Amino acid sequence: FLRELVSTAVDATSQLKTLARKGEVSGEIGDTTIDIMIDKDAKTLTIRDRGIGMTEEEVKKYLNQVALSSAQDFVDKYKDEASIIGHFGLGFYSAFMVADKVEVVTKSYQDDSTAVRWICEGDPSYEIGEAERDFHGTDVILHISEDSEQYLEEGEISGLLNKYARF
Ligand code: ADP
Repeated sequence: FLRELVSTAVDATSQLKTLARKGEVSGEIGDTTIDIMIDKDAKTLTIRDRGIGMTEEEVKKYLNQVALSSAQDFVDKYKDEASIIGHFGLGFYSAFMVADKVEVVTKSYQDDSTAVRWICEGDPSYEIGEAERDFHGTDVILHISEDSEQYLEEGEISGLLNKYARF
């Protein structure tokens, strides 16, 4: 899950750099650091990028229609073979391997975009609304489930990052 989410964060950042080179981004793109943040009290693990971000329409299209539905079909098909899930790029949906609720706060790089908050508990229903965010990019906030609390330990996360996301 961490490798998938960090890869997507890197992709979102590379895409922004490419658009900037083509002159399609107004203003400086600024700092493009990806932050991985643990909040033990809130029991959240956040993957923050400063990439292209998403508009509300893109959130609905990419997270609900693409990420959730294609992953759900996949999981249904292979539900008797739990181990298979770890072997394929499930992309964004892999967040639900360790989180019982996933929150996304995102703002598109496009001029005049407003930030959007999307909250989903893994089923097809979701909440979407306005959010506060002063820079473009995406926070994926994982509300870590009780049986995955090891992912709130810094040592565990830096171990996984060094192993799977060293790039
Ligand atoms: P993919 O294999 O296409 O990366 P994912 O399941 O990881 O699939 O994500 C689905 C889509 O949601 C992505 O293709 C992208 O359009 C959008 N998306 C997911 N995470 C981000 C992010 N951090 N920044 C921008 N777009 C994102």
